[in-house]
Amino acid sequence: MDALFCVPMLSVFLIPVLSSYSTTLNFLFFYMTWSTLVLSHTPLRVEIFGTIAIRVLFYALPSAVMFLFDILTPSAAVVIKAHGSTGLPGGKRRRNIRLREIKVAGWSLLNLTLAIALQWAIETTCVRAFKMRSALKVSLKLPMPYEMVRDLLLGMLGREALTYIIHRFALHANESPLKRWHHFWYHALHAPFPLSGHYDHPVTYLLSNFIPTYLPAVLFRFHMLTYLIYLVIVSIEETFAYSGYTIMPTNFFLIGMARRMDMHVLTYGEGNFGPWGIMDWIFKTAIGDAELIDDEQDDAEERERERRSRTTYAASPKKKPTTPRPAKTTSAQGPAGRRR
Ligand SMILES: [Zn+2]
Repeated sequence: MDALFCVPMLSVFLIPVLSSYSTTLNFLFFYMTWSTLVLSHTPLRVEIFGTIAIRVLFYALPSAVMFLFDILTPSAAVVIKAHGSTGLPGGKRRRNIRLREIKVAGWSLLNLTLAIALQWAIETTCVRAFKMRSALKVSLKLPMPYEMVRDLLLGMLGREALTYIIHRFALHANESPLKRWHHFWYHALHAPFPLSGHYDHPVTYLLSNFIPTYLPAVLFRFHMLTYLIYLVIVSIEETFAYSGYTIMPTNFFLIGMARRMDMHVLTYGEGNFGPWGIMDWIFKTAIGDAELIDDEQDDAEERERERRSRTTYAASPKKKPTTPRPAKTTSAQGPAGRRR
């Protein structure tokens, strides 16, 4: 029993001593784990299992929890939705969840699985069939911090440019099966909601999501660790940018992206083609809430004009009937008669 009480006492004296070495020890411990992982598994296995772990932990699980929160407690979820009940998976129907919303979630997870399967196929073909080196670098040597930062920047900028070009010109510009599929699948959504980040026709999804994410990592041949950090950033971004929520871990960055994604769907693809908005800003295709408010105001004004013209027509004194038929004359007299 004495030994049990001694442990907390020892920790009081040991923690300050150990904390000064904590950074070095943590790094040493991390390097030992990484070395064991690399030495005991093939590069292909490290890449695929690393990708699966990151995607599940930082995208699939949190998005699934948010999706369940939205469909099981819509009254609570609607409070933090930027576009109210429009942002719920069931839209304004709230509790009336149909098979369609479940299908969107299912396809989203299926597309994610498809992307990982394609990544595995590409790596297997490169390494086994063509005897090439692996697309990503899996080595015992860790990358230098500046190399990681440089690669992350290149990866993010490459992803932004590729997503913008493919999304704008292949999925929205000209009539093609790709445009039809993208509009029929993704743009059938009334607003983005959790898990809809990976929802699209499988072909347009691989083209506009998987390729822009994976290609920069292959082109710059990322170190596996850099790739995993890159994938963590992308997964967190996709989780929150498509959630439709007003509460985010970082209000500065993620909330802007989320509103941009909302606007792309709400305006049926008039702009906001890139995830970060850099390319949209350069090529002047960025659309903000103001455009939606303008559109809504225009619609409201249009409706008001129509309503007024109908009221004026109905309340106006008998004018020349447009047709000589007696029935028409009677109906024109009706409201005036009631008014009296
Ligand atoms: Zn689109």
